[in-house]
Amino acid sequence: MQIIYKKDNKDKRVFKFVSAEFCCEQASEAWEDRAVIFGEADTVLNFDNNVNILKCSPYPEGAVFTEYSISFCPFCGKSITVKEEEN
Ligand SMILES: [Zn+2]
Repeated sequence: MQIIYKKDNKDKRVFKFVSAEFCCEQASEAWEDRAVIFGEADTVLNFDNNVNILKCSPYPEGAVFTEYSISFCPFCGKSITVKEEEN
């Protein structure tokens, strides 16, 4: 899996998703289902440039998301590359 991101123009600590290429069909499905995501799940300003497995804990007050960063595809075992967009 390869993820391309860019830094926000105003705040260089903020990472924005650009594009994804998938190593296998399962990774693509997990991405579409948001089981695997880029960065933080529930935020406007994303400060995390990892690929994460997502856990959602629903509470009456609202859902709490927990991210677990991964470096390899959990389905086919290929490495996950996260790169900044080249201008
Ligand atoms: Zn894969």
